[in-house]
Amino acid sequence: MNRRKFLTGAGMAMLAAASPISLSALGEPTKQVAKSGRLNLSFFPYELQLRHAFNLARYSRTTTPDVQVQLEYDGFVGYGEASMPPYLGESVESVTTFLNKVDLSQFNDPFRMEDILTYVDNIAPNNRAAKASIDIALHDLVGKIMGQPWYKIWGYNPEKTPVTSFTIGIDTEEVVRQKVREASPYKLIKVKMGLDNDKETVEIIREMMDVPICVDCNQGWKNKEEALEMCYWLQERGCIFVEQPFDKEWIDETAWLRERSPLPIIADEAFQRLPDILRFKGVYDGINIKLMKSTGLYEAHKMVTLARALDMKVMIGCMTETSCAVTAAANLSPVVDYADLDGNLLIANDRFTGMTVENGKITLHDRPGLGILPL
Ligand code: MG
Repeated sequence: MNRRKFLTGAGMAMLAAASPISLSALGEPTKQVAKSGRLNLSFFPYELQLRHAFNLARYSRTTTPDVQVQLEYDGFVGYGEASMPPYLGESVESVTTFLNKVDLSQFNDPFRMEDILTYVDNIAPNNRAAKASIDIALHDLVGKIMGQPWYKIWGYNPEKTPVTSFTIGIDTEEVVRQKVREASPYKLIKVKMGLDNDKETVEIIREMMDVPICVDCNQGWKNKEEALEMCYWLQERGCIFVEQPFDKEWIDETAWLRERSPLPIIADEAFQRLPDILRFKGVYDGINIKLMKSTGLYEAHKMVTLARALDMKVMIGCMTETSCAVTAAANLSPVVDYADLDGNLLIANDRFTGMTVENGKITLHDRPGLGILPL
């Protein structure tokens, strides 16, 4: 599909009428002489190409549908994105349909973030990735106008970022060995589980490197007694937590496992947004927050606070995304226990540079907004 075809007609018309800048000039935040005083939204689909086929307990894929978003105001440009792994139920069509309904002409101040994002949230139910794309672009825009990165605006210490895990999917022994070699700079390895060869995968990793591992079952385990046995087996092999062991509807089984497991049990597919967390006390030890589930940073920030108040562990994760959404999430990472922010490293066609991983640790840079630069 032609990129220009997907740019919103209304947004582009306003952009052309109100501002002398062209799309090609939107790469960098620059102060314009002519101020439009309007928020201009534009977007286009962008298929993410995965470096390796992504094999999980329930499906496999080589691309991820994605929509890239730009929000322009007075010569400043904020970038956002919606990434749509198929299991979340959104698509390029649903995201573009949603974004075409967004009319930001009623807002002339991007700092009214609560008003703007409440309006966006109320346009239609669900559409979480579509909503996240606007939230992320708005944060980038506002941070750029302020001239500060979001971790600083929130008052977080960038030295306190955690290490990030590197994901090794379910695959053949040869591919697992290749991925383990790629993972050598990382200090935490995330192993995808839920098939018959789970133990072999862990044994290969243990043979090749000795950093801690964590396990993501993606709802793949089917038996609670076997799961408990596996948790003890994994603990002996340096595993530090288990993510989404059972089907998201298995609340009683998960609570049973959590009570007995030597490893913390973290929720992922079982929840999406802020109110969902309240029913997890006693069922899970922690939550994996992802911007594409939470509708973006505004709610994710509140989720961290609520989970902390409930004495739960907090993980910040991502989908396969460009460095735009991954870096957005990284701004929250100084206040989480675990980070799984390798989505940008799993794709071959990133559009941005942003947070980097140095010596396995998330490294935030002193750039305004999300802290990203277009490539
Ligand atoms: Mg997960």
